[in-house]
Amino acid sequence: MSPRSIFFHAPLLLIALAFHTSPVAAEKPNVIVIMADDLGYGDASCYGATALKTPNIDRLAAGGIRFTSGYCSASTCTPTRFSLLTGTYAFRKKGTGIAPPNGNLTIDPETTTLPDLAKKAGYHTAVIGKWHLGLGAKNGPDWNGEIKPGPLEIGFDHAFLLPTTNDRVPQVYVENHRVVGLDPKDPLWVGDEIPGKDHPTGITHRNTLKMDWSHGHNGTIHNGISRIGFYTGGKAARFRDEDLADKWIEKSNSWIEAHQDKPFFLFFAAHDIHVPRMPHERFQGKSGLGFRGDSILQFDWCVGELMKTLDRLKIAENTLVILCSDNGPVLDDGYKDGAVEKLGDHKPSGPLRGGKYSVYEGGTRTPFIASWKGKIQPGVSDEVVCTIDIAASFAALTETLLPENEFLDSFDLSDVLLGKPDAKGREHLIQQDNGSGKFGYRAGSWKLVSSGGKNQKFELFDLAKDPSEKSDVIKGNSEVAEKMKERLEKYIADGRSRGE
Ligand code: CA
Repeated sequence: MSPRSIFFHAPLLLIALAFHTSPVAAEKPNVIVIMADDLGYGDASCYGATALKTPNIDRLAAGGIRFTSGYCSASTCTPTRFSLLTGTYAFRKKGTGIAPPNGNLTIDPETTTLPDLAKKAGYHTAVIGKWHLGLGAKNGPDWNGEIKPGPLEIGFDHAFLLPTTNDRVPQVYVENHRVVGLDPKDPLWVGDEIPGKDHPTGITHRNTLKMDWSHGHNGTIHNGISRIGFYTGGKAARFRDEDLADKWIEKSNSWIEAHQDKPFFLFFAAHDIHVPRMPHERFQGKSGLGFRGDSILQFDWCVGELMKTLDRLKIAENTLVILCSDNGPVLDDGYKDGAVEKLGDHKPSGPLRGGKYSVYEGGTRTPFIASWKGKIQPGVSDEVVCTIDIAASFAALTETLLPENEFLDSFDLSDVLLGKPDAKGREHLIQQDNGSGKFGYRAGSWKLVSSGGKNQKFELFDLAKDPSEKSDVIKGNSEVAEKMKERLEKYIADGRSRGE
């Protein structure tokens, strides 16, 4: 079918999708979602990178399905993570933009989440790595007491977290409800305002920094790096940035080992390759692309370590691994880490336009791989899949009931993820940024881009002919554009796109 005919048949196909029931018998594989942070479409060698090698990601792809149209639902961290766990587009809920250091939990504990579904299906559940969905009730986290509600209140049995994101304060681990290693005599204080005029910051002590900032990251200094926001105390609890990836692997391995006998669901939320990029010393200088490239190597190492653990415990043949990213790439995201100067010919978005913060394809189309040893026939798929669909797909795979009025935008793509012949991906996908009101809307091979705002402007691209979104063809295709505008508005106004 031509892109145009796919588009105009969309309503019929949507009906088919809505009534589709999976023929897959209930299986309860372990599920690991490996989410990279800010990893772009062109950042892995199996997606065309030649300036560096990602052998472990490549091996995962070679043994599974590599998607060329795999998406996350937003081009920044918090909304994509919100949608992964709730199966609902983040733009439907206010306050789901990039969470501040003292931000409260963005997911209502009453909401049924992906880990809730997993628990209903008899799974152990854990999140290890970057959280960045806020913690605590209205007033935010009680850093020195019980930090809740948090992941344990929305379906995870275990959590070992970087509570926010590492360019924001504080640099401590939170395990379940507590900051790890906190000395009660040295309480942790976190705030938006400088705690005193003698408090050293990235502005007053700029010459002491081991990595300088370029914009905005000039608050409290820890480990020679200044951050967004301020904090004092909690000295014994603070980690070294260089050790984060090792810690995620150590904690993941021990959790997997302890729960290998019952099906488990692990959300492995890497911090690589988000700023500040400060990989372990053994990766520094290894890519030739600066710390950004070195952090990609570190992330690739993490993928390899997780795979080794599955092999060692002989559970690889019973584990579905999904690798994805939470948004597209960015070079200078607030620190002078050499990402721009050392880029050379490397193209973080590959052939795609835009990156992090954008609703062009590079903002949300990223590496996306599904692998299940011995179960998935390896290959490459051009079907459209999105991180938001993991919830409904998981429910179908495990024959768990998806509540009618939740997971409002999550589609069952389990057959696509498992590489079943002729299985069809999404007919449409709404792409958002951090919540500015701009949208991308893909239907078949057509892509509509809306500028948002009062005097909304639109562009139209034919991704089949123009994957880089270089030529706006809205003038010659006004009928297509009108229909797409209508659809986009309808999905936004309806409050849901599942089961329409
Ligand atoms: Ca991110």
